[in-house]
Amino acid sequence: MLRSARLALLRGLGALGIDEAALRTRWRRNRLLILGYHGIALDDEHHWDPELYMPAETLCRRLELIRDAGCHVLALDDAISHLYAGDLPPRSVALTFDDGAYDFYARAFPIVEAFGYPVTVYFTTYYAELARPVYDAMASYLLWKGRGRVLRWPEVLGQLRDVALTEGGRDVVGERLRRFPVEHGLSGRDKDALLARLAALLDVDYDVILKKRLLQLMTLAEAGELARRGVDLQLHTHRHRLSLEEAVFIREVEDNRERLRRLRASEATHFCYPGGVARREFLPWLRRRNVASATTCDPGMASRRHDRLLLPRYVDTAGHTDAEFRGWLTGVAAFMPRRRQAEATGQFLEVCGRA
Ligand SMILES: [Zn+2]
Repeated sequence: MLRSARLALLRGLGALGIDEAALRTRWRRNRLLILGYHGIALDDEHHWDPELYMPAETLCRRLELIRDAGCHVLALDDAISHLYAGDLPPRSVALTFDDGAYDFYARAFPIVEAFGYPVTVYFTTYYAELARPVYDAMASYLLWKGRGRVLRWPEVLGQLRDVALTEGGRDVVGERLRRFPVEHGLSGRDKDALLARLAALLDVDYDVILKKRLLQLMTLAEAGELARRGVDLQLHTHRHRLSLEEAVFIREVEDNRERLRRLRASEATHFCYPGGVARREFLPWLRRRNVASATTCDPGMASRRHDRLLLPRYVDTAGHTDAEFRGWLTGVAAFMPRRRQAEATGQFLEVCGRA
């Protein structure tokens, strides 16, 4: 179904009051809407990547729609217990944020807290410890800041020589910058120096970007402060990386869990697949590590029939309209054909190991 037709239908259902009726059905009552968010812009990140970032006003508007629809926002752990016990309260919703960016600490949490809603952060910890920008994302952001310029950087670009930073040119250089640290075995610090050099070549003021902490994660201290204020920190792998080799996959989960252990009173048992990449072979590995639930980026309403380790989630972005969002709160949007959303987190994803 075309997006325009879907939007018209959702608006029509709203006008007829059918979406309001849907909110009260037994079907909706037995389902949990798990909402997924990424970044809330500190500056202009939502213009760079509107799939990954939304303005603070949009988040605020979403929470108003949740409140106005009379939804029950549950803590994730409670929501999952009630889902499988078959005693969810009406209109159940759970709020999740991926990665644990600094903008969650500075922008998103104050908004969520003002509404009094519980919230889960799937916190990836490698860049939180490093306290520097996320490399792939920052490289892409800097190339966007320098859009329209010509980049000459023979040490990195090799034979590419001068590259005009059109959209296509940015893709080519972005790919080269993704591969370069792997091919040269660069450390986190080396990668950071590469970003500073890129900014200088593009005449972008990197110090200002660092000071604003764009595309950085919360530090462990900041995350700990939020945990004490009620934020539920959960598993998202240490390096935001999945492996098809069990030992590497498990090490990522355990390295992540070990950091969270210092910040939480209890063991972290809820997991979110980085990039939404959920494969069947991961399920027994997660079960053996006492992972109680895992969320994907496949849009849908969670029901008791879902495997606990393959829970669907609606990843909300700035491009969605109020009608679409309300369609998910009521559940009617779940009946409309749509595309998968796993690509939404592509910037932050790395999958390694055998195919
Ligand atoms: Zn993520």
